[in-house]
Parts: sequence; C-alpha cells; structure tokens
Amino acid sequence: MSGGYDVELFVDTPDYDLICTICQGVLRCPVRVACNHVFCKKCILQWLKRQETCPCCRKPVNQSFIFMMYKLSKSISRLRIKCKNETHGCDATFPLSEEYCHSTACLYELVPCPHQGCGAQALRRDLETHTQRCEHWRQLCHMGCGTLLSLQTQAQHNCYRQLRQEHEAQRQSHRAIAAALQRKMRKMQNTMAHMKRQIGLICESLEVMDSQEEVENAGETTTASSSSSSGSSSSS
Ligand SMILES: [Zn+2]
Ligand SMILES: [Zn+2]
Ligand SMILES: [Zn+2]
Ligand SMILES: [Zn+2]
Ligand SMILES: [Zn+2]
Repeated sequence: MSGGYDVELFVDTPDYDLICTICQGVLRCPVRVACNHVFCKKCILQWLKRQETCPCCRKPVNQSFIFMMYKLSKSISRLRIKCKNETHGCDATFPLSEEYCHSTACLYELVPCPHQGCGAQALRRDLETHTQRCEHWRQLCHMGCGTLLSLQTQAQHNCYRQLRQEHEAQRQSHRAIAAALQRKMRKMQNTMAHMKRQIGLICESLEVMDSQEEVENAGETTTASSSSSSGSSSSS
C-alpha cells in the first residue's frame, strides 16, 4: 500500500513513532484518532471503510474525530532523504520537503526525449547526447532559409557554404564585367589617341598644302610682276 514514505529513502532510520502501523512507511499527512494513535491520513481512511476500529488498539474510531497533525507533518518534512535516483548514480541528500524541487533538476532523473514521435527516455544528464543523435531530431535551418532539417538532410544541407559560393560567384562576375569595361575603355582611349594623331597629321598635311599653294600663288604673283623686277634683278 502506497500510503507513507519509503523508510529506505531516509538518510537516518526514522524514529519508530514516525512509522504508520498500517503501511509501515514514514507518516504522510499524519492524523490522530480518538485513541491517540497516529496514521497516514490516506491509510486510516481506507482502513475505516472496512472496519471502524483502531488497527492498533481495536478501540472504536469515529471518522469525524480525526485530527490533522500539522506540527508532526512539518518536522517529518525536515528529515533528510536520499534521492530516489540513487541507483542511477545520484548521491544527493536533502530535506523531504525539497524532494520535488530536486527531481526537476536531478541529473539522474529519467526524462522523455523532447522530439515528437521519439518516446525514448534518458537520464537528464544524457538527454543532450540522445537528442543530438535522435532520429526524430528536427530543426529549422539556423541560417533562416526555412528548410526543416533532419539528421540525414542536415549533413547535406549547407546553407552557409551555398550562400557564400553564390556570393563569391556573383563577386567574380562583377569583377569580370568591370575588367571588360576597363579593357573597352582603354581600347577606346587608344583609338581616340590614334585618331587624334591622324587628325594631327591630316591637319599638318593640309597646312603644308596650304602653304605650298600660298607659295605657288605668291610665286605666280611675283612672276607676274617680277618680269620687271626680274629684269631689274638681272640688270643688277
Ligand atoms: Zn500509512
Ligand atoms: Zn488506537
Ligand atoms: Zn537526484
Ligand atoms: Zn529521441
Ligand atoms: Zn538553410
């Protein structure tokens, strides 16, 4: 019968008068009946359903004369107990009142795997190792691409590397475009310089032609009017 606390849990063997004679455990919610015998509340209520006498002294017990023993309950709650996971390796001891609090943090407590559909249990300290290898592991890609990854697809999925490669490829194509533009510009500059030189040459040759014409014209005028001058020059 699971009325009181298991005596084995306690660090020091509990006093005899803290033991419930019905369940042989340490009193849980102790109550006193009219004959002054003390039992767990649950134990005596169950007992009275069958017979309304004290299990210790056989005196009649009236269900409506049962008294809660708060002080005794308090002092029992201060008794030190061992962790129920001692067999798994926990060597912690603490007051009975802190049992629940410890069980929520105990590294040797069996806890269920949080992944949906797994159903496996592991010691709290081993849970992380399990969940990392659990085949029910699912996680959204932390790079934010929205892919739901499993253990199998996680290895192949390489969001970051992919993004980097794409980025690198883009940068290279940008560089190639820039280089091509630069080459074109240099070509144009060369062509322009070449054209400038050509134009220069053309201009020079035009000037030469002009001056030749001038010379010729001048020569004509001089020859036209020089018949006298040449005569004079020949006379000189
Ligand atoms: Zn009991
Ligand atoms: Zn009694
Ligand atoms: Zn523990
Ligand atoms: Zn799992
Ligand atoms: Zn991704």
